[in-house]
Amino acid sequence: MDISIIGSGYVGLVTGACFADVGHNVICVDNDPRRIETLQAGKVPIYEPGLEEVIHRNVSAQRLRFTGSIQDGVENSQIVFIAVPTPQQPDGSVDLSFIEKVAREIAGVLTSYRVIVDKSTVPVKTGEKVRESIKRYNRHGAEFDVVSNPEFLREGCAVADLMRPDRIVIGAQSEHAIDLMKKVYEPFMAPILVTDINSAELIKHAANSFLALKISYINAVSAICEASGADVEKVADGIGMDRRIGRTFLNAGIGYGGSCFPKDIAAFITISEQLGVPFNLLKEVQRINADQKIRFLKSIREALWVLRDKKIAVWGLTFKPDTDDLRSSVAIELVSDMVKEGAHVTVYDPKGMAKAHEMEALAGAKFASSALEGVEGAEALVIATEWAEFANVDLAIVKEKMTTPIIFDGRNLFNPETMAKLGFHYYSIGRASVTPH
Ligand code: NAD
Repeated sequence: MDISIIGSGYVGLVTGACFADVGHNVICVDNDPRRIETLQAGKVPIYEPGLEEVIHRNVSAQRLRFTGSIQDGVENSQIVFIAVPTPQQPDGSVDLSFIEKVAREIAGVLTSYRVIVDKSTVPVKTGEKVRESIKRYNRHGAEFDVVSNPEFLREGCAVADLMRPDRIVIGAQSEHAIDLMKKVYEPFMAPILVTDINSAELIKHAANSFLALKISYINAVSAICEASGADVEKVADGIGMDRRIGRTFLNAGIGYGGSCFPKDIAAFITISEQLGVPFNLLKEVQRINADQKIRFLKSIREALWVLRDKKIAVWGLTFKPDTDDLRSSVAIELVSDMVKEGAHVTVYDPKGMAKAHEMEALAGAKFASSALEGVEGAEALVIATEWAEFANVDLAIVKEKMTTPIIFDGRNLFNPETMAKLGFHYYSIGRASVTPH
């Protein structure tokens, strides 16, 4: 099928590449000329495992190309996906101006029937607004259908998620649009759930809120474990072995971040309030999440007494491993908080350094070129992201390089007993801290 995707970011680019890989002809559109130039030059502007190969393979096969022109995309495709940002506004609601602008632009160049598919995460009832907007600016009176097709990929394994999704949700009114969408997704051999547009939109916010709830649940349990001497990892295993609950998303840590969970939970709260049915449980999810970072910082302060002039290494800046995405990362907040308190912070991340250099919030930090360089002379090491590189590090070398062997592990990468034997003061989440044996 001929497909265009408006917005070539984490979602648009990965979706476009994977659609091309199963045989569709795909045009990825973006209004950032630098991004399009980079892609046309054969470079990939984001890090996502496996993405570069998929893009190169499909560009060579002439199934994938990049353009700055929406007109080019809309004219040369049957189905137009929208994958532009839907950021959070200061009051928690969703900024839909990107979606509105794209809807207007599509309408302006629409000359014959197209299916317009919203893949961005949007509040329930946005589909109706998109339809009204396209109708209003549709100069040629061309026919079109609007579809909601929320995306569930996870950064860090987005290509794998796209190729083998748990389910595809198609929210649509018209049978013709549903048939075309089924053809798009046929090669993926995933279960397809067809719903009305409102339900499809709501599924995305409800799913992300539930996952965030699971994280906050185990984080709240981690605080009780710390207060009672229980071990949150054992508790999570014990809960997770129940098939009705499952072990995934039960990893205690410094809280969720990233470009989706914080904004989607805030959006769902606002949506529920606007509809007159406030979802207050989600406010508690947010509170527990914020509290997790505060408690972690408190444990650092308590152990180091004062942070001023302390040399602190931070491993991990991205909001999760296997991505270069630093958006709303708790790690960045931690670094910025410690710098504000006068600590000399040196940061290192396996894939996030290029973007980190451009971040104002990290202006007061030093940048290391390796994990081991980062801990040179450090009085404490803070682990903020669970990269495999950190879990597999030679801890004996780390200890040798540090001035004082104190580790604050915000992601529970190591076994406390082992750390004590290796001679570390080791603080983690929801488990008793240990001192060297
Ligand atoms: P992104 O910022 O990585 O990419 C968005 C792209 O859209 C950018 O390249 C930007 O230049 C482009 N753009 C903006 N306005 C445009 C316009 N008028 N015309 C053409 N291009 C335009 O964002 P993302 O992470 O891909 O997220 C996109 C949407 O998908 C959001 O609604 C997000 O909530 C949702 N989503 C994201 C993820 C994720 O893990 N990142 C997962 C599921 C859903």
